[in-house]
Amino acid sequence: MNYKFDKIFSETIEYLKQLNPLIGGTGYSEVDPPGLPAGHRLRKVVIANRGEIAKRFFLALHEEGIPTVAVVSDADRGQSWYEFADEVVFIGDNFNYSNIPVIIAAAYLARANAIYPGYGFISECADFVSSVNTFSSEYDHEIIFMGPNYDTMHLLGDKVRARALARENDIPLFESSGIILNEDMDTALQEAGGIGYPVMVKLSIGGGGRGIYIANGPEELREAVQSCTRLGREQYGDPSFYIEKYIEDPIHMEVQIFNGWAVSLRKCAVQRRNQKIIEESGHTFIDDHLALSLMAAAEKIALLSGYSQNGGAGTVEFLIDNSTGRFGFMEINTRLQVEYAVTDQSLGIDLAKWQVLYFDGREDNILLYKNLKNRSPNIDHSIECRIYAEDPENDYMPSPGVIIEMDLPTFNGIRCDFGFSKGDSILPMFDPMIGKLISNGSSREESLIRMERALQELYIKGVKTNISQLLKIVRHQKFREGNYTNRLLDDFEELKFPGPGGGDSGGVNLNPVIFGTFTEYIRLIQEAVRQYIIMTDIERYTIPKMDQDIPSRFNARFNDISYRVEFVQVTVDTSHVFIDSSYRGKIRANSFNERSDDLIVIFGNRSYRIRLDRFSNALVLRMKNENNKIDYYQLEVVPEGKEETDPVHLVKSPFPGTFVSFPGNGIAVGDLVEEGEELIVLSSMKMDTTITSPVTGTITWIIEDGNLQNLMRAQNRNGLFVGRSIQEGEVLFIIECPDECVTGGPAERDKKAVVQGEYGTASSFMNSLLSDTPLEEMTGYRESDVELLFELLRAVFSGFIRDSRVVERTAGMQQEMPADLLLGYGPGENAIAGIISHYVCIRLR
Ligand code: ADP
Ligand code: ADP
Ligand code: MG
Repeated sequence: MNYKFDKIFSETIEYLKQLNPLIGGTGYSEVDPPGLPAGHRLRKVVIANRGEIAKRFFLALHEEGIPTVAVVSDADRGQSWYEFADEVVFIGDNFNYSNIPVIIAAAYLARANAIYPGYGFISECADFVSSVNTFSSEYDHEIIFMGPNYDTMHLLGDKVRARALARENDIPLFESSGIILNEDMDTALQEAGGIGYPVMVKLSIGGGGRGIYIANGPEELREAVQSCTRLGREQYGDPSFYIEKYIEDPIHMEVQIFNGWAVSLRKCAVQRRNQKIIEESGHTFIDDHLALSLMAAAEKIALLSGYSQNGGAGTVEFLIDNSTGRFGFMEINTRLQVEYAVTDQSLGIDLAKWQVLYFDGREDNILLYKNLKNRSPNIDHSIECRIYAEDPENDYMPSPGVIIEMDLPTFNGIRCDFGFSKGDSILPMFDPMIGKLISNGSSREESLIRMERALQELYIKGVKTNISQLLKIVRHQKFREGNYTNRLLDDFEELKFPGPGGGDSGGVNLNPVIFGTFTEYIRLIQEAVRQYIIMTDIERYTIPKMDQDIPSRFNARFNDISYRVEFVQVTVDTSHVFIDSSYRGKIRANSFNERSDDLIVIFGNRSYRIRLDRFSNALVLRMKNENNKIDYYQLEVVPEGKEETDPVHLVKSPFPGTFVSFPGNGIAVGDLVEEGEELIVLSSMKMDTTITSPVTGTITWIIEDGNLQNLMRAQNRNGLFVGRSIQEGEVLFIIECPDECVTGGPAERDKKAVVQGEYGTASSFMNSLLSDTPLEEMTGYRESDVELLFELLRAVFSGFIRDSRVVERTAGMQQEMPADLLLGYGPGENAIAGIISHYVCIRLR
């Protein structure tokens, strides 16, 4: 024990009692919880985690009749994930999920006799296990840690120690250094030189893909070591690292073990930032000999580390070098992993329940456990997609926020492991995972079909998610073939950037541009009408017409191209639409909800169901593509005339987070910055994100005057320094640009797409109506033109067309037209038009 256990422990008890005034606090009691039959080792279990994995264990224990206790930090109080816990201990600070004394004190106060650690946080921390043991002996109340014992955790929690064990016992592994302490650059350079570049620099206690850096030569190695040790010091209080041969084209394969048995394999090669996003189990993708070699190596190291005597679930991770077929041991995770569910679904087992049964002393009840020796011949194929709150099209920018809507998929072969639901917040200080979607089928093909279906069905509104990227991946040829490696997202750029989601059949599909701007148009009309109704209630007779201009022209930016979209409204729900002055047809909103973010649009003889989510910088549309498959489209829409042309530009934080650093030598008022230059590093969802300058100009203001003392808060309870928290939208910098600086108006910024009109005769008529064609040239109408002209005249009279240019030209054409065609539309009709306009609440100009 490296701290004064008693003192810290009693202080922590007091801290928790203040937060939980009603809690008993008389200490642990042996009395059985009511209703729990004798014979259970587990009497009451604290789940030292949050979100999905916590909910899974509340429910798994609940099924066994064993009471559970949630620990809940301040920011999590309003969330739904702990609804199924039997008791709650509030733990205050958000860092306290990783605070050992707090977790143990919570178990003590709640009179629990076991702790389940989940994943992340302190799930792999040997100190945690030893503290639990010390508590158990010093306070004479046993608390069971539901995981491997201290020796095993100590050995495996540190990657360098685990690798040494593997090396000593002839388990294959790729070349690597021993542990390097004290940020020793000389040793690092020497080791890297010996191993041969490229190498990877890894924190010895990193996890979740953090603390891993590639270096192609000595210069990059210096930078890598600096970044790695900085992260280690700041985040984990331990900068020790090691160097490993970088495998350029690897495949991540891992073995699920249970008490030392190899249960089955998982392929986890779809990764971003060295963290998994899709995992598979069932089909192994490798030959039987290699598969058995991996399982054998996993059982061997499990046995050597003491896992077979205790421990329950664990995972042995390997990399296969795709160029040689050789494999190397990477690490063991001493817990149930995020992707355990694919093994569940593939084998038809329940690993979470196995954990409960095993630590409850009922090993014999584990279904299939004894049959494991047969290696389960009847397996399904199962695929998991991790649903993250992030924006893959924007370098995986974190996207914390409130889930406004969430529709989970249904029907055959789909499992949704979600810890959050509608109304919950995806919080900036925790992991970005919202939940996991798992499909299974008798073949990979079937599992894949179901996954694609389920990803289309899943809908989450309020935060940006990676669902559209996942759709692109599962539709991608390389992924479908199955022989992909960890390089999938590196080698296929289309999986990372905006663009059609795999279904587009050539040509630019501009429907998203039309529908995106149309929904914006409808929203503005609705707002104006609502405003008008409020006004007429009060001043019904004094304000005869709606005194508000609704913009009907928009600048839209889609896939890096800008378009000018224009609507000419002809009835309450119908408009003609033009893109860059070229007629595209008639569009009608068939039905929409109050917020106009879930609507049916009729366009080109087809109806489209559209759901959209509005963010400060983009609209995200979800709709079917030309192949009738759901896709996501992001675009920026700004009403014409609303562009920000102010020479003063505010750089705001795009998400809530905390301050990390300024780049390089810092930044000061008066500095000249180029567009795209790095301004500040913020942390959100455990990810560092660099904010760059959107314009070229001079910095005239910096948050907290750029004063680091104010930007780094004091030490937290774990002794780590934390940055000042930053609100979403908080101004970080003010940059003054030269006169020509124009921002926010997408259409003004860059290239124009060439869009061809594609609608026959009406098109030429409408186009000339909106062009500068002299009126005289437009005589000699075709039948369809006359019909259109009537429609427009009616719209003018009804007050839908407010654009003076169109009104004038339509009126002009009316003059030119043969009188007998104009039936009831003489000048006297203006009175009727006035009445109509009154009712439809829109001003006739
Ligand atoms: P695996 O479990 O497959 O190794 P990761 O390493 O990505 O996958 O999972 C561990 C990571 O999960 C942790 O590093 C942490 O970032 C994240 N994590 C921890 N707790 C939670 C939680 N309650 N919900 C979602 N993610 C979590
Ligand atoms: P973590 O503890 O974060 O899970 P790992 O050591 O398991 O870290 O590595 C995570 C991922 O990083 C691997 O799945 C792989 O994609 C990549 N990686 C790790 N080591 C190497 C290596 N030597 N060569 C290539 N890629 C690697
Ligand atoms: Mg790993």
